[in-house]
Amino acid sequence: MKITVTSRTHVGKVRSNNEDSLLIREPYLFAVADGMGGYAAGEIASRATLKAFEIGTYKLRHEQDADAEQILADAFDKANEHIYLMAGRNQAYAGMGTTLTALYLPGDSTAYAAHVGDSRLYLYRNGTLSQVTHDHSYVADLVAKGKLTDKEAFSHPQKNMLLQAIGVEEHIRTDIIHFALEAGDILLLCSDGLTDMLHDCEIADILQHNDLVVAADTLIAEALANGGRDNVSFIMISLSAVEEDGCNE
Ligand code: CA
Repeated sequence: MKITVTSRTHVGKVRSNNEDSLLIREPYLFAVADGMGGYAAGEIASRATLKAFEIGTYKLRHEQDADAEQILADAFDKANEHIYLMAGRNQAYAGMGTTLTALYLPGDSTAYAAHVGDSRLYLYRNGTLSQVTHDHSYVADLVAKGKLTDKEAFSHPQKNMLLQAIGVEEHIRTDIIHFALEAGDILLLCSDGLTDMLHDCEIADILQHNDLVVAADTLIAEALANGGRDNVSFIMISLSAVEEDGCNE
């Protein structure tokens, strides 16, 4: 399948710095990291995490029959260890951390996702937007237990309280997911600056009515129009069938 990638990152309307980082290695590896910490520590955490993660995934491209799920999990562990040690060694970095949601596309119609935190991977297919990853947050757990509705969760005062993040504790439990892709799918990796400002139905509506570039600009514009209270970042990957070459003559 052919892929088309569009990404955006915006500081938003309230914050002075952008703590989100994106990793784009077309056509196979993509990730979003949303950092947290005082001063510049959030930015450093998200950037350093993506760097460590990418180094950890080296085998994905260079080893035949690589075990993608194991390599992704190991790369997450390595990134966690790296940030945890950085935070422990330097007082300015104490308590820093980041979300990390990654997508690996080996090119055979399979997608692998690895995830810690509350950035998200969505799949848009046949007009329906589905959240692939599960937020590691206090509020998402309450929703899963039936104690909160999605609507209540959207405006909950503790919605940004994470249950785990990269670099905060010595060990993480990375969610690893794989699923089959179809032509026409759009994959959306994003930070919570998008999903705190736009409901899933609004994102789906924008994807349905626009081409990828216009959709990307519209998502940013709408997130800002709704307050832009956080950094907004996303990567969209659109999959289409490879067209037969009709020019044989
Ligand atoms: Ca954020």
